[in-house]
Amino acid sequence: MTDIYGITYDKLKAMLIEIGEKPSRADIILPAVYGEPPAALDSLPLKKETLEKLSGTFYTGELECIKVLTSETADKYLFGLGDGSSVESVLMKHEFGYNVCVSTQVGCNMGCAFCMSGRLKKRRDLTVSEMTEQLLAIRRISGKKITGISIMGIGEPLENLANVLDFIEIMMYPKGLDIGIKHITLSTCGIVPGIYELADSSTPVNLAISLHAPYDGLREKLMPVTHRYSISEVIGAARYYSEKNNRRITFEYVMLDGINDTDDCAQRLSELLHGMNCYVNLIRYNSNEGCDFRCSPHERIMGFYDVLKKNGTGVTMRRELGASVNAACGQLAARQASPL
Ligand code: SF4
Repeated sequence: MTDIYGITYDKLKAMLIEIGEKPSRADIILPAVYGEPPAALDSLPLKKETLEKLSGTFYTGELECIKVLTSETADKYLFGLGDGSSVESVLMKHEFGYNVCVSTQVGCNMGCAFCMSGRLKKRRDLTVSEMTEQLLAIRRISGKKITGISIMGIGEPLENLANVLDFIEIMMYPKGLDIGIKHITLSTCGIVPGIYELADSSTPVNLAISLHAPYDGLREKLMPVTHRYSISEVIGAARYYSEKNNRRITFEYVMLDGINDTDDCAQRLSELLHGMNCYVNLIRYNSNEGCDFRCSPHERIMGFYDVLKKNGTGVTMRRELGASVNAACGQLAARQASPL
């Protein structure tokens, strides 16, 4: 049996042909199962024999919601998976709409020093349906219309790229959730081959790259992935992505007190990004138990901001969403994994 929420339009058409059905049935099935509320497979306006075949081939999966933490700006959800592991997602409440931040792996092997998820070693990649169902479950529980997706929860999406590409295609299916490509953002720690592959795919969504340091030596200490891909390789891939798809790249930069927040770091960052269609998003560090880092003081963040501005580098500061629900990635699942 196959979970229908893990199948793209084209794959569904191929499977329908395999079971002796017209591929055009996909145009009835997908709009119905992604409708609000979603239709049961056996309730579709199709012949009895067709419904029997569908019911014998597909099912509609649903994630079990274990916990929800709510705040004014963000709600955090912890979902249980079939194999006993758990995964978290966040509903971000923006002025312009509701955005869901989805996870792509159970745990993460990238080991970023400032991130709780780096301590939950990767157990496995999420399937396509487990990603889709994070969004469907949040839509069902919250009753909100979801208008955007951030692929920046737990896990490195470019290490699970085949499934993530199918997930994006499902999100964009016009008769289904119909989320526009400009409303989907994928965040990576800088997996260079994956950046090129996404750039050359049919769905080059908005790209955010977690940079967090302008020197390889410093970045290696914060982000071990720098051993695999140097900053210059990451920046080269970002330039390719931007130029090929006419996209503005976001560079995420978390402000860590006394670590990466000097004027010299800001100056070097401007030099690295010179001439690229991009901007730097300065993030206030959401301090959590178990990590020694502290957020830079406000004046230091403003000083860093001013150097970038003076050099003509685009810069914004992220609104702090969800600190009270531990919305920094991985925190809720980490607490679930270890005894409270
Ligand atoms: S910041 Fe992202 S890539 Fe780094 S350890 Fe956390 S989840 Fe993994």
